[in-house]
Amino acid sequence: MTAVISPVTGAPIADVPPTPAEEVDALIARAHAAFPAWRAVSPGDRARLLRHFSRVVGDHIEELAQLEVANAGHTIGNARWEAGNVRDVLAYYAGAPERLFGRQIPVAGGVDMTFHEPIGVVGVIVPWNFPMPIAGWGFAPALAAGCTVVLKPAEVTPLTAIRLGELALEAGIPEGVFTVIPGKGSVVGERFVTHPLVGKVVFTGSTEVGQQVMAGCAAQIKRVTLELGGKSANIVFADADLERAAATAPYGVFDNAGQDCCARSRILVERSVFDRFMGLLEPAVAGVRVEDPALDSAEMGPLITAAHRQTVASYIDDVQVAFRGSCPDGPGWWFPPTVIVPSAESDRAYREEIFGPVVAVMPFEDEADAIRMANDSDFGLSGSIWSRDIGRALRVSRGVESGNLSVNSHSSVRYWTPFGGFKRSGLGRELGPDAPEAFTETKNVFIATD
Ligand code: NAD
Repeated sequence: MTAVISPVTGAPIADVPPTPAEEVDALIARAHAAFPAWRAVSPGDRARLLRHFSRVVGDHIEELAQLEVANAGHTIGNARWEAGNVRDVLAYYAGAPERLFGRQIPVAGGVDMTFHEPIGVVGVIVPWNFPMPIAGWGFAPALAAGCTVVLKPAEVTPLTAIRLGELALEAGIPEGVFTVIPGKGSVVGERFVTHPLVGKVVFTGSTEVGQQVMAGCAAQIKRVTLELGGKSANIVFADADLERAAATAPYGVFDNAGQDCCARSRILVERSVFDRFMGLLEPAVAGVRVEDPALDSAEMGPLITAAHRQTVASYIDDVQVAFRGSCPDGPGWWFPPTVIVPSAESDRAYREEIFGPVVAVMPFEDEADAIRMANDSDFGLSGSIWSRDIGRALRVSRGVESGNLSVNSHSSVRYWTPFGGFKRSGLGRELGPDAPEAFTETKNVFIATD
């Protein structure tokens, strides 16, 4: 048995045995066996089943949210949103089975038409930071496309995924169509990569493991989507609404205790307003409510594990801390929101993904310098631009090498719009209207009429 530990109390809350390799193979074989019948379900019936799955998840929002508060230390407000996101993503992609249109292409001597054929078994590998939404972004469009899914939650946060697997069965999704397989990355995750009956891997996690997954998939020419790390820039120009930019900046990086691939963990501020911005940021950071995540008022909970807290803390050993918020003492892996001012762009804390509530603030000189600094990173996942000049905001948006940007806002992830990274932040796109097609192969068929 492997104990699941609550990051809020440090106490065990459940035992989830890791799945042994032979059992993983048997479950993949079962998902493969379930594929022909699932792809043959008529589009309208598959849509109805997914809508029903969405409704059943909707009936269990509070239960799922409470599980996530206990297992991942998410604030109850966030956790309710996350469970609601699974419900909404399922409802959204329930529209896809009836809209997987092919094309009719003009050719000489006949008719050519295209079909979207489902790939088969899809392996979804999920990290611990957003166990519910990231699972849903993979499994909902895959099921809609007619694929069957095996899903591996992260070792430390398996509880909500296991419950979603049970709710799928309750909703009438047939046995073997959606299977949650808890266990180790090196066993379950690797088997998704190496098993010949898994046709595609959807991996969300660190860039290092993503690289291994991609190399493993290459050995079989296996389809792969990678959603990896980030070190995103929040760019604040002197002409911006500085009060608003400063008031929201903490939520752009400290949400989920900074354990967010889209965290705006670098704030770049035009030099002429740097001091004023820092003056506004300090009370905003002090105002972040870090407390028991079960409280409705909580805005930030603890870090996921003691080991992760140690890693996060190591980043502020040799850098100037400008100011910090507060956090509870006692049990749990607490870490206060922390604002640092690196001495150089080469500082480790400025370049690496810390994945905790630490934000680096640096000044820039002009528009070109802002774009240069934002792009001076291995990553390219997210980011924000604050300016009242819409032309500049658009120019900078086009100049920043990043997949998901927001102007005068720190929110850029919506299930209606495509999501994914540039550079070492990933490969391929999730979400948006085209996501189900990524779980299909396009086939063209020519019919001679002459
Ligand atoms: P991780 O790479 O350690 O683990 C992610 C998942 O991969 C886990 O389920 C793990 O068990 C599994 N895994 C580990 N080794 C494996 C292997 N050899 N083969 C197959 N699977 C294996 O990442 P993490 O620490 O759980 O998550 C944090 C990272 O995820 C951060 O870098 C963060 O930026 C990234 N992330 C990216 C996105 C995105 O959408 N771009 C979203 C959330 C998190």
